[in-house]
Amino acid sequence: MAKQKHVVIAGAGPVGCTTALVLAQADIKVTILEAESGLLLDMRASTFHPPTLDMLEKLGVTDELHAQGLITPQFQYRDRRDGLIAEFDLAGVSDYTNHPYRLQAEQYKLTRIIVDTLPDYPHAEVSFNARATHLEQDDTSVTVHYETPDGPQSVTADYLIACDGSRSFARKTLGIGFPGFTYPELFMVVSTTEDITKIVPDMCPVAYITDPDEWCAVIRAPEMWRFLIPTDPNMSNEEILEEDYLESRIQGFAPKEQKYTISHSTLYPVNQRVAETYRAGRVLLAGDAAHVNNPLGGMGMNGGVHDGINAAEKIIQILHEGASEDLLDLYDRQRRPIAVEYVQAQSIRNKKIMEEKDPVVRKQRQDETKAICDDPEKSLELMMQVTMLNSINKSNAVQ
Ligand SMILES: Cc1cc2nc3c(=O)[nH]c(=O)nc-3n(C[C@H](O)[C@H](O)[C@H](O)COP(=O)(O)OP(=O)(O)OC[C@H]3O[C@@H](n4cnc5c(N)ncnc54)[C@H](O)[C@@H]3O)c2cc1C
Repeated sequence: MAKQKHVVIAGAGPVGCTTALVLAQADIKVTILEAESGLLLDMRASTFHPPTLDMLEKLGVTDELHAQGLITPQFQYRDRRDGLIAEFDLAGVSDYTNHPYRLQAEQYKLTRIIVDTLPDYPHAEVSFNARATHLEQDDTSVTVHYETPDGPQSVTADYLIACDGSRSFARKTLGIGFPGFTYPELFMVVSTTEDITKIVPDMCPVAYITDPDEWCAVIRAPEMWRFLIPTDPNMSNEEILEEDYLESRIQGFAPKEQKYTISHSTLYPVNQRVAETYRAGRVLLAGDAAHVNNPLGGMGMNGGVHDGINAAEKIIQILHEGASEDLLDLYDRQRRPIAVEYVQAQSIRNKKIMEEKDPVVRKQRQDETKAICDDPEKSLELMMQVTMLNSINKSNAVQ
């Protein structure tokens, strides 16, 4: 009897879970190794862009994700002092997607939905408390060693897709460089359940607010409003996370007499890095294991899901259709330049625009944004860019 085709996934984050589901649905045995004892209640990503929703729709998970999410067709660029600069409506990209909007839903909702679905596939399993530590590979297989509470174990499979986040064990074991830089300041997310539109009536559920001293991205998730704000590198984490300080940050953007109730706050170090290669033999890197960027524009998880689906589809062609392993190099050629030329470039630019200190340059950029908004052709181009529809078209065109 032929050996069952088998892929190991390291990491049960949004990228690992999605990738595993694609493989499981193609009747490939899939084992997810997750270091933690359960799925992380991760409050990082909360935006799903149109092409990601189109891909997830094919996997059958979008109904449940929509049930737990918030559809937000509009987004705004604002100035902290002058208010609204421009508002865009993603209905403008409806010729190019089934989902002409951002779906606001935290990333842990996707991982839970997928892991609840996996029992439908008897050849798919998630092992928690399984921290991958090292690997070896030859021409026919890859063996991943992992630690468990019962001692070290290993699994041998046809391929490994490393979706184990920014500190990827696979990237480090394989000696793949991760060049880039770390911002000096931490980013803070502070959330409140209070309805911000009662205080700033014209505030959209997605608003990017420029300011030379303290910019902010305001994102409404279904259960709360989240404020993403840079912090002062001279302050300690304890000082930043002190409740009165957090409260004062929200007051600065949506002032009101009573105190805000803070429902959640976290500090994040932020990097801009891309792995030197996404392929080493039978191992592919995907998601944060392959690239990290600042959260302005919501592209890290979305790009990672695009990677994971692309990688899984290529492995399916190799395992089921006998396609050449050259496809794994095509994965690198299609996905890596997108991370460098598109996601890194766009996210670095987004931060520069948000924090621009020169009033003349700031005004010029705001005037440009207004002009784009008033021009249907330019407005469509901007929306194709920020929704990542352009990046998918560009990636798919690479042969
Ligand atoms: C404040 C903030 C807001 C963000 N907002 C957005 C957004 O709106 N949209 C967006 O697209 N992106 C956003 N991002 C980025 C997004 O959160 C990440 O890109 C995303 O989590 C990457 O998913 P992943 O599955 O690749 O990695 P992760 O989510 O980091 O998951 C990796 C998993 O691997 C596990 N693991 C780690 N090491 C091992 C090991 N050795 N063995 C086994 N398992 C291991 C971890 O426990 C974890 O479960 C945001 C980030 C931040 C900081």
